[in-house]
Amino acid sequence: MAHIFRSANNIYNVIICPDTYDKIISECEKYSNRETGGILTGNYSKDNSTAYIKDSYSPKDSKHYKNKFFRGIDGLDKLIDKKWGEGEYYLGEWHYHPNSSSKSSRWDDIQMIKFLNNGKLNCPEPILLVIGGNSSNWSLNLYVYKNNEKLILKKE
Ligand SMILES: [Zn+2]
Repeated sequence: MAHIFRSANNIYNVIICPDTYDKIISECEKYSNRETGGILTGNYSKDNSTAYIKDSYSPKDSKHYKNKFFRGIDGLDKLIDKKWGEGEYYLGEWHYHPNSSSKSSRWDDIQMIKFLNNGKLNCPEPILLVIGGNSSNWSLNLYVYKNNEKLILKKE
């Protein structure tokens, strides 16, 4: 099942493709009580209103703690180059809050502003997907960070 998120008035829409959703969930299950995460790649509709999340990638040098996650950079440049050749781009980040709320934290906001300003990632409006809960009850929150705004997209 694809997971669809929309902003007010459907100005921004994000669709997580089923295979990617399964990949992310199995990564959360693997780490169970520590945070994990990675980057999201995919593409946009012609009118740029919809982002399609088609894959995720978790760098091996990421640091996993109970209440914090530092996304690593190992293999990232290569991966982004390879995806570029396939018509896919860096879209943003995801991470897991084990057995906890899927609301973004202040720390998450600070990290996202850093990624937004990272010229190398070339993504002025990155997506953040936060997974909360656990295998008996996953919860998802999705945000789009813009210069002075953080949009909360609602799950359809
Ligand atoms: Zn977080």
